[in-house]
Amino acid sequence: MDRRCITILGEGGVGKTALAVKFTQRNFGYDPSIEDTYLRSDLVDDRHCLIELVDTAGQEEYASLQSEWIRQSHACILVYSMTSRESFVGIELFQQAVVRHGGRILMLVGNKSDLVTERQVTWQDGKDLADHYQCSFIETSAKAGINVDTLFHRVVRELRALQTEH
Ligand code: GDP
Repeated sequence: MDRRCITILGEGGVGKTALAVKFTQRNFGYDPSIEDTYLRSDLVDDRHCLIELVDTAGQEEYASLQSEWIRQSHACILVYSMTSRESFVGIELFQQAVVRHGGRILMLVGNKSDLVTERQVTWQDGKDLADHYQCSFIETSAKAGINVDTLFHRVVRELRALQTEH
């Protein structure tokens, strides 16, 4: 069984839980929880994959837990809210944590793209940071269901590609 474990990192309130819930349950509205794991069995490019999402929401500040999550997962995605410049600037600390613990960042995610009038981070800012980290970039809306499947499917594809390279 192709199994891919992805840790979702980013400041509180950016939509980490909402993305995990949307991808695995296809709805919006939930009880905010502390760290949790979400599973979805899915077809990606006609191949089955069990996608396991580790949602770190509510425990962003616990460095010791971060190292566990990063080491246990195949990849990390870094999420900010495009309505919060602060959450974008804060991404750097998570990036440093991933590097420090030997993890792999595959995607930078600008969430809440439905809130167009509240945008504080341009698409280009996100893209430039992703280029700097040498990872992919995508803007999503967990609420409107925009690019959520695309995001996680792309991570699975990139993990598969990395495996065939080595
Ligand atoms: P977390 O702390 O990073 O897990 O963030 P949550 O998933 O708990 O989301 C924080 C708040 O942002 C909640 O009120 C969500 O309903 C809201 N939210 C999350 N994603 C989106 C989105 O894509 N669009 C909008 N408009 N709100 C969102």
